[in-house]
Amino acid sequence: MDIKYIIKEARYYAKLNGFSRAFKKFLLTQTPLRKIVNTPLYNRIYLAKIRKKAGKLQPKILQIENTNLCNAKCIMCPHVIMKRKGKIMKFGEFKKILDNVMKNYDFKRLTISGFGEPFVDKNIIEKIAYANEKYPKLKVDVYTNASLITKEITDRLLGTNIDRITFSINGTKKNYKKIMALDYRNTKKNVLYLLKEKKRRKHKVLTNMSLMILKENERDVKDFIDFWSALADSVRVYAPSDWAGSVRNIEKKVLFKGKRWPCTGLWNNITVDVKGNVIMCCRDYESKVKFGNLLKEDIKKIRNSEKFKELLERQLKFDFSDAICRNCDNSFDSSLDWIC
Ligand code: SF4
Repeated sequence: MDIKYIIKEARYYAKLNGFSRAFKKFLLTQTPLRKIVNTPLYNRIYLAKIRKKAGKLQPKILQIENTNLCNAKCIMCPHVIMKRKGKIMKFGEFKKILDNVMKNYDFKRLTISGFGEPFVDKNIIEKIAYANEKYPKLKVDVYTNASLITKEITDRLLGTNIDRITFSINGTKKNYKKIMALDYRNTKKNVLYLLKEKKRRKHKVLTNMSLMILKENERDVKDFIDFWSALADSVRVYAPSDWAGSVRNIEKKVLFKGKRWPCTGLWNNITVDVKGNVIMCCRDYESKVKFGNLLKEDIKKIRNSEKFKELLERQLKFDFSDAICRNCDNSFDSSLDWIC
């Protein structure tokens, strides 16, 4: 692999998660040291570590779904089969939810995205600005397909302290329309304008280009990396998810390769859907598992509920039989998330 690409990615993840965490993860995934992961000794040590750490963990990442409406029709995304009614979260609801959790926890990061295209929401810039002003230490990021980020939106977006933008592009000129049903020229133009403006304004926002590897684009992955890595802070290509068993046409299903570990996401993250429900995680696109509603209840009450505590206990006993988790393809190396 290209050394320049590796260095660039290392720099991006160090900025995002801190140098020591990025370094440990690099050692345990990209060097011969990876052979120790999931050996019996490793498992013994880290199981003890997990049990010790679990009781003390406080959530750090908040994800709020500002809308579940989307203008794309991606072939690998269950949005096309989602039964939840489309909605945009009102500004007042967003503030209420954010204030509810921030008065109880010291969150590090807020992701304003969920199971929709966040820029369908005309108030998203106000929501980012509100979070920036009221909670200056909170890092705000978004995941977008970039198709709606016109020059005017970009100018306003770069007027905020947005910390990271992940562009889900998933293709090149050859296959993009087939995969996402959007116009490649428009998307590329929008991203290039944002990258140019970021440079001109010396805005600190981190930019990440992401592509899910599918049979439709696998021959063009190198072109994708070569083109975008010269321009953005990071390029991430990754194996497809089947959304906890929901998308049956995904061919490269990732199988658990070793021991499955308790999912750190349940301790570290709070995922809120567009109606204010606290749900299992971003895999739960139908909001099947709800722990409570932040428009009506205090977050501490929800996190201390029997339903939620029992879920954590089951995970610590390596019982992954809960709906959604049982088919999850996201956690085969999650032991690393506990130690890194
Ligand atoms: S195990 Fe998978 S489905 Fe369950 S909370 Fe973690 S990421 Fe979500």
